[in-house]
Amino acid sequence: MSGIFDTRIEFLKGVGPQKAELLNKELNIFSYGDLLQHYPFRYEDRTQFFKIRELRDDLENVQVIARIKSVELVGTGGKKRLVAQVFDDTGEMEMTWFKGIQWVQKKLPVGAAYIFFGKPAQYGRKWSMAHPEMEPVTAANEKRNNFQPVYSTTEKLKARFLDSKGISKILEQLVPLVYSQIPETLSPEILHQYQLIGKAEAVRQIHFPSSPELLHRARKRLKFEEFFYLQLRLLLMKVARTEKFRGQILANTDLLTDFYKNHIPFELTNAQKRVIRESFADMKSGKQMNRLIQGDVGSGKTMVAFICMLIAISSGAQACLMAPTEILANQHYEGLKEYAEMMGLKIALLTGSVKKSARRIIHEELLSGELKILIGTHALLEDVVQFQNLGLAIVDEQHRFGVAQRAKLWAKNKEFIPHVLVMTATPIPRTLAMTLYGDLDVSVIDELPAGRKPISTVHRYDKDRLKVFGFINQEIQKGRQVYIVYPLIEESETLDLKNLMDGFESIARAFPQYHLSIVHGGMKAEDKDFEMQRFIKGETQIMVATTVIEVGVNVPNASVMIIENAERFGLSQLHQLRGRVGRGAEQSYCILMSKYELSKDSRIRLETMVRTTDGFEIADVDLRLRGPGDLMGTQQSGITDLLIADLSKDAPILTLARDAAQLLLANDPELQRPENTAILRQVKQQKKTAMNWSRIS
Ligand code: ADP
Ligand code: MG
Repeated sequence: MSGIFDTRIEFLKGVGPQKAELLNKELNIFSYGDLLQHYPFRYEDRTQFFKIRELRDDLENVQVIARIKSVELVGTGGKKRLVAQVFDDTGEMEMTWFKGIQWVQKKLPVGAAYIFFGKPAQYGRKWSMAHPEMEPVTAANEKRNNFQPVYSTTEKLKARFLDSKGISKILEQLVPLVYSQIPETLSPEILHQYQLIGKAEAVRQIHFPSSPELLHRARKRLKFEEFFYLQLRLLLMKVARTEKFRGQILANTDLLTDFYKNHIPFELTNAQKRVIRESFADMKSGKQMNRLIQGDVGSGKTMVAFICMLIAISSGAQACLMAPTEILANQHYEGLKEYAEMMGLKIALLTGSVKKSARRIIHEELLSGELKILIGTHALLEDVVQFQNLGLAIVDEQHRFGVAQRAKLWAKNKEFIPHVLVMTATPIPRTLAMTLYGDLDVSVIDELPAGRKPISTVHRYDKDRLKVFGFINQEIQKGRQVYIVYPLIEESETLDLKNLMDGFESIARAFPQYHLSIVHGGMKAEDKDFEMQRFIKGETQIMVATTVIEVGVNVPNASVMIIENAERFGLSQLHQLRGRVGRGAEQSYCILMSKYELSKDSRIRLETMVRTTDGFEIADVDLRLRGPGDLMGTQQSGITDLLIADLSKDAPILTLARDAAQLLLANDPELQRPENTAILRQVKQQKKTAMNWSRIS
């Protein structure tokens, strides 16, 4: 918004320089436009009245119409309070006041009817409200029809009469003043097709709803708009990039054919085949590939990665794979080495712990083109690592990497930006994927290799530990291996570490006949690796670890995952951990250990894990419990600076908005048609004001 919307807030009647300064500081409101977009975060429903019998624990503030039966002062000194017994035709309840008693007392004549507004609470069998708002019942207010907006504000603002009501008052000045100048930002087609109300009306209704229906439509319209421009921006970025960056044409399949014919150890799943086809189509298209491969744990992403590498190498290019930790890089290396050697391809591992002399050889062979596949950690990103012709860069477990690092990979080939595959096992709900990765193409491996038995998951309390130990013993007797995982978070690191060590000792005492490995973040990389290798080789039967084993680690013979203090883990973490088992032919088990007392959220998390192994279902629950910001970490939080739309709740609107944006660009890619001028203007405007999107993608 520009023009009048840039007017500084202090020029608004009823604001003035002092309040303006506070609004600047406390709420980042500088201009008329900012104030207009300070949308209420909820509404108090003053349209509905509750009967006393209808009150429930889970209700927020509600209205009750009741008559006063008696009023009395109870208690003495600090505990003195005023209690009014009130009633309607369904029952009786209490209204209580601890402060302002004398003043309230005068307003409470026995027999009078009032509208009381507050949060109901139950003590014993009796309902009560503390410090309710109240007003006498009149013919008018009994039937009124309004939703009162509630604005976020701060203590400092409240002290200057800018509480929620105060903010509403200044908006009462502003909205009529600018109403006729609020520009429409969507095209007539879109308004019509999606049955959206106009922008100006939406802004008015959002602050001063005249009915629940109109409020609903106003919110829908503004959410739609917000999602629409977010999606449009992402799609435009994608278009710009596809046009700007040519891709190396990688179309030769000789190696692939050889591999399929002579070496592949198992039949690919249909999902794997499909994703390979999608990637191959990109790689031979002449355009640079930017593809996200989502595949639940165990879906076989590594094989897909290897086959894409073969395509690149067949066409004379090199490939690299970057993993977030040394353990993972190691494991990828071990896994891929076997395949690469079958194919006579040179492969190397580059991590922080590779010796200088070995590094030098890697650097040389990369430059000469002799080394075809490089696996590693961040060490790959260093400037000294130069390829003869890097054709494909694969990033595993993307959520651990910053976007800037993705960009660094791009710079590894001066002539053609390498094709990029991002692989993630974090099932991202569709809504989030659309937004976070709106600029990437997405492939999903939505099928597990045949013959996998679903992991059986149970929840056990700490008191059942002996039984659990018995079960561990029984499984090891059958020749299996067991993970026991402890939480370790930075904030309570010392305590957690002690917990882990205590656990380790008690397990060592309980199972003197077995060998144990231990791995945690505080250990040196080579020690971790040593312990890990012992477990992989089957020299140890029990692996006691923190979440460092969370991603990617693959030991098919390990079939039991015990998670200690499971209530402290997030859902996606639990899912990742569980994914470490169930990789072989044996029936696998996941046992979630927790204390007896659990918060509501913890209980939902554990119940969800027991109920399902579907990563997407789990991700959806997670999104609902945690909200989107948290799910993505701080890195990308800028993307979700949404004013009114909510990624976890407004998925249907997001889908509509994305469709609309796609359709628009399909019909008018340059936004040149007259009916789309408003949209073009808005896009340009946002480009100026919004942060620099191209930098972070
Ligand atoms: P993730 O997607 O979690 O990275 P992996 O690539 O580690 O999964 O694969 C998990 C296990 O499944 C590995 O042992 C792998 O060899 C095996 N695997 C992958 N694809 C298939 C398939 N099509 N059929 C049978 N086993 C497979
Ligand atoms: Mg993997």
